[in-house]
Amino acid sequence: MSDTIERIKCLIIGSGPAGYAAAIYAARADLKPVMYTGMEPGGQLTTTTEVDNYPGYPDGVDGTAMMEDFKKQAERFDTEVRFGLATKVEFNDTVGGTHKVTIDGNKIIEAETVIISTGATAKYLGLESEERLKGGGVSACATCDGFFYRGQDVIVVGAGDTAAEEATFLAKLCKKVTMLVRRDEMRASKAMQHRVNSTENLEVLFNTELDEVLGDTVVEGVRVVNNQTNQKHEIAVTGVFIAIGHKPNTELFNGILDMDETGYLITQGKSTKTKIPGVFAAGDVQDKEYRQAVTAAGTGCMAALDAERYLAALES
Ligand code: NDP
Repeated sequence: MSDTIERIKCLIIGSGPAGYAAAIYAARADLKPVMYTGMEPGGQLTTTTEVDNYPGYPDGVDGTAMMEDFKKQAERFDTEVRFGLATKVEFNDTVGGTHKVTIDGNKIIEAETVIISTGATAKYLGLESEERLKGGGVSACATCDGFFYRGQDVIVVGAGDTAAEEATFLAKLCKKVTMLVRRDEMRASKAMQHRVNSTENLEVLFNTELDEVLGDTVVEGVRVVNNQTNQKHEIAVTGVFIAIGHKPNTELFNGILDMDETGYLITQGKSTKTKIPGVFAAGDVQDKEYRQAVTAAGTGCMAALDAERYLAALES
């Protein structure tokens, strides 16, 4: 354990759009934020190819380039961006208390406010071919990437509300959408199932799983297997959308902060406040509903404003 303890006003954990938006606002409010990026600087967007739906980029932007822009903007206002992983948190539940966060197991930061923006990670099936073709036709975000498959045939794997929503969204753009559902029924709400069933160019294959994604550098098709008969067949598609859920990155806060049954942090009302005074949560780590870069950035801004107001109230 290190003997260096650094005392700061505002610590930001995580470097996706929520973290950087929080940093820009916190820095401009003179909170001198320090951000620890986590193991995937820039977050989920750095695994996307083109971002076409973030306002301000009329010609679209590469996900990694966009996150570099976020970083530059945060640094312009003197945010200190550091590579490192928060490995332990000891939050103080008294108003005005100092929160202790350990970085990489050895450095201790004592912060008056903490903004958690650790994001969520899309779940994948774990096939080698799926991993290899990520960015070459395999995606976990129809809202982000669906546009590139206009007029083409795609499949969606999953049977929850996300899969149903993504499949119906894609059906508006694509020639045909095939949904692979591993059981003989869908988990999605009845309303969503109704939308799926009433979409003409959307076919649901029950008891069917993805066996392999086909193609060397880009997706050319899939091989699927009926798990009742073990019969396999191929479907020609150019896009594969995996929609089997997300996992919020909240292990660090287990037993410390309130979470819903799937591990998303719970914030109070329309704010970003957690149950600990001075600790705020923004972005996908507390949002399983919208999960967009622009909504994450919006809540990042809210978290910085909440932190600023919290500190101002302490001083008054
Ligand atoms: P869910 O956990 O609800 O659903 C995941 C789906 O993926 C399930 O159907 C599951 O199948 C399937 N699945 C999991 N692993 C595999 C696998 N290895 N192979 C094939 N299929 C697999 O996640 P969602 O992201 O859909 O939803 C998360 C939460 O967000 C839910 O509470 C949902 O209601 C909510 N939500 C609400 C929306 C809305 O109201 N508009 C929109 C989007 C999400 P199985 O059913 O067999 O377990």
